[in-house]
Amino acid sequence: MTVIAPDKPQVSTDPLDLEAINPMLESQDPAGICRWASAQFGGELVMTSSFGAESALLLHLATRVKPDIKVIMIDTGYLFPETWQHMEALRRRLDLNVWVYRTKNDPIAWLGQNGEGNASWRNDVDRCCNTNKNEPMERAMAELRPSAWLRGIRRNQADTRKEKPFVEWSKRYRCYAVSPLLNWSTRDIYLYMKQNELPYHPLYEKGYLSIGCNPESCTRAVKPGEDPRAGRWSGTDKIECGINVNSNSLDSAGL
Ligand code: SF4
Repeated sequence: MTVIAPDKPQVSTDPLDLEAINPMLESQDPAGICRWASAQFGGELVMTSSFGAESALLLHLATRVKPDIKVIMIDTGYLFPETWQHMEALRRRLDLNVWVYRTKNDPIAWLGQNGEGNASWRNDVDRCCNTNKNEPMERAMAELRPSAWLRGIRRNQADTRKEKPFVEWSKRYRCYAVSPLLNWSTRDIYLYMKQNELPYHPLYEKGYLSIGCNPESCTRAVKPGEDPRAGRWSGTDKIECGINVNSNSLDSAGL
């Protein structure tokens, strides 16, 4: 079942003028956009993190301006053990305020109940993502009811992200989505990570440049020259898990 956030009072006295704000933010670096978001939304700003390949970057940027920001982590039941290790290491290093939202399903039982006989492969990735990833995310946003949410998407990651603005209204979560990293390249990220001695996910050096769940159907190492996200749902036309799709999971194409 999809959980929709109930109507809530507007925290901002007026809706944001996105046509004015987005061009202004184009000239800001990610730290400047995080500062703007913290000043604009205060305690009602949260962030999501997959604790994936380069997640330390946005966690570091966000906690420089808002040390106690709530960090939403979605536990599908199928994450790599290394992801949990990475989360714990970053939680200690950055003193993170992590809020884990878990699938309601027992991961092994769910596979058996849904005809998924091979734990290292998903036949129906859309059904699995919808139930085990999108539902906890929607539950998190319905419970926490933030005014805005920081996320780590970049324009050069996928065609679905090329036209994204820095700030947009999310009808699905009924809050603003703020994307400070939109214009950064892999090299920009590398330089920031190096300068601040931030760790990549432990699987990064093994060729896992974008990291989600551990079935091979969902995350594999990429080969030299491949797009960093080529290892996600490889061999299918699926690009997004659905968390960053700006509509209800039940009516999102491809979900
Ligand atoms: S990424 Fe794969 S294992 Fe994870 S929720 Fe989606 S289909 Fe399931």
